[in-house]
Amino acid sequence: MDLHLKDKVILVSGGAKGIGKSICVQLLEEGAVPVLLDKDEVAGMAFVKQFPRAHFISIDLNDAFACKKSIDKAEKTLGHIDGLVNNAGYNDSVGLEHGTPQKFIQSLTSNIGHFYYLTHYSLSYLKQSKGSIVNIGSKVALTGQGNTSGYAAAKGGILGLTREWAVELLPYSIRVNTVLPAEVWTPLYETWINSFADPVKKKLQIESKIPLENRMTTPEEIANMVVFLLSDRCSHVTGQWISPDGGYVHLDRSI
Ligand code: NAP
Repeated sequence: MDLHLKDKVILVSGGAKGIGKSICVQLLEEGAVPVLLDKDEVAGMAFVKQFPRAHFISIDLNDAFACKKSIDKAEKTLGHIDGLVNNAGYNDSVGLEHGTPQKFIQSLTSNIGHFYYLTHYSLSYLKQSKGSIVNIGSKVALTGQGNTSGYAAAKGGILGLTREWAVELLPYSIRVNTVLPAEVWTPLYETWINSFADPVKKKLQIESKIPLENRMTTPEEIANMVVFLLSDRCSHVTGQWISPDGGYVHLDRSI
């Protein structure tokens, strides 16, 4: 199926590694032009060296003004912006009992703040292109995880914003959807699982609870869903929360 994404310019926050990187690779395969917005300069530069059609902008997404400057720069260089993937995020384990109010607010800012900054500052361009927005949430917003209040609140907020923005942007035909990963092997996930005493045992334990094929979701499987949602093949899909997770969140627990 042709997704009609040829030459479309798509901003991808956190595009240098993990799920974001897979989204950028998939976009390139569809003939689109991904713009990686990421603070990992080594990974970002390596990506554009491998894929010269892609663009990399080094940025701290927690800086709202830097978000505006980067978006304006991308539009000036490439002439249009056709989509935005709000992907960057970090499960920072700011809990209720062991966190602090300051750390909680900081976690909210770094996990949902830039979703607003990037969407707000790219809106005038997305209105011109009737672009599409895909947010990356987390199963944590639906299931909880324990000891991660800031991340859970931010990811829950992203679900709310998906519906809110889908409504506000109806007059411009801009669609807004969210993809919720559950267990996906990425650099971030690897760091997290290595925090357990026996990471191999923990991984096997998690995989045994994933109904479809008892395996983790691949970053490519998340990317496929994101790129499909960005495309006009999803032209009447908006305000949706979609869980490509092998049935992890929604299937019967007794199976
Ligand atoms: P990842 O492997 O850490 O990749 C994320 C990239 O974003 C990294 O290059 C990171 O840079 C960058 N980044 C993060 N915060 C940034 C900021 N404030 N400014 C600039 N760059 C920033 O993460 P991932 O596992 O692919 O996760 C991507 C998204 O999926 C996140 O929103 C995450 O919450 C969500 N998710 C993932 C899973 C999973 O199983 N992996 C499950 C549920 C939800 P640094 O490495 O330098 O920080």
